[in-house]
Amino acid sequence: MNYEEVRRTDPALADALEGERERQEDTLAMIASENHVSEAVLEAQSSELTNKYAEGYPGERYYAGCEYADTVEELAIERATELWGADHVNVQPHAGTQANMGVYLAMLDPGDKILSLELEHGGHLSHGHPANFTGQTYEVEQYEVDPETGYIDYEGLREHAEEFDPDIVVSGYSAYPREVDFERIQAAADAVDAYHLADIAHITGLVAAGVHESPVGVADFVTGSTHKTIRAGRGGIIMCDEEYADAIDASVFPGAQGGPLMHNVAGKAVGFAEALSPEFESYARQVVDNAEALGARLQEHGFSLVSGGTDTHLVLVDLRDSHPDTTGTVAEEALEAVGIVLNKNTVPGETRSPFDPSGIRAGTPALTTRGFDEAACERVADLIYRVVDSPDDEAVKADAEAEVEALCAEYPLYDREGRLVDFE
Ligand SMILES: *Cc1c(COP(=O)(O)O)cnc(C)c1O
Repeated sequence: MNYEEVRRTDPALADALEGERERQEDTLAMIASENHVSEAVLEAQSSELTNKYAEGYPGERYYAGCEYADTVEELAIERATELWGADHVNVQPHAGTQANMGVYLAMLDPGDKILSLELEHGGHLSHGHPANFTGQTYEVEQYEVDPETGYIDYEGLREHAEEFDPDIVVSGYSAYPREVDFERIQAAADAVDAYHLADIAHITGLVAAGVHESPVGVADFVTGSTHKTIRAGRGGIIMCDEEYADAIDASVFPGAQGGPLMHNVAGKAVGFAEALSPEFESYARQVVDNAEALGARLQEHGFSLVSGGTDTHLVLVDLRDSHPDTTGTVAEEALEAVGIVLNKNTVPGETRSPFDPSGIRAGTPALTTRGFDEAACERVADLIYRVVDSPDDEAVKADAEAEVEALCAEYPLYDREGRLVDFE
């Protein structure tokens, strides 16, 4: 993307856009929820569809002139159906949080009960946090991961469901490194006659590629973000059985949203088509292989990983064992200074504040998009170790920064024509 027209009319803004582009090019994006979309997705997202109102659904719009909007949305739905295999798909949620809102509004009344994973244990704000509308509208109780193993405490979840008698059980997480046993959670929900919402925001791409078990056909509702492992640009998606189709559609529009962001729906359509290619399956496999290699190398350096490893795209490092005097914030800031961008994170059994927690979370989706393999991820693990081990040592950091620069040059995000490289 070049910003010629923005530069002509608004140089200050163009500086910021170019600055961000260069930041992404010259640093290692290891925030587990981030990725780089293809040039085709970027182009679709900046299309003239940003001008178009298309309230309603294909063939039943409230405005004239929706011929092409219909085609775009139908393509997005068709491809999502092929990718994840659900009966019904709604591609209009503006993001993952709005997708969850669509499900809650459709199925719950204010005061109804949600059982979800503790935020500190890897849950998400939209699963009932007091700062989110869910925590303010519904009665929320939370299950946990087993403090010994770091795995979801499925047995505890089942018992908790029996005691609490929730209306909906939420699975799917933001900082959980292990494969989720959706069938087991479904059984716990069934036992108390609750709905089950599987929020696969982070792992949409892994599920689509078959490298993580799918909750589609298991859980009543499956929601996701479309900009994380699936690389389809910012947005959300809801999937469900035909019996809930009308309730979900009405809940998204007119229940929670107005006009859909049709330019983003176009981005979803393009990204979903890319994800249907055989290359995407190898991409998703490589994401997991890379996370395993990263995690194993971090362990060799003495770091503790929550759950002892990963089955997914992320690792969660608990710094308390290896570096008791280094908080997640200190690690995050020192790493950002050398061009490794990841985030501080709470860990199960957190003993510090969420603003300065004991862990860091690192993901491989974006690195894998720019071509990183296991060996490259091991080099990154070595750098993480060196920096976190000496966060105040300027010589160590200067060295690490040079190595990050070398890695970025070896695995460029853009080719010579300025196009995003393909991941295969
Ligand atoms: C990222 C995420 C979401 C949605 O986030 P948005 O930023 O609204 O797309 C929802 N649930 C989980 C578990 C997440 O990790």
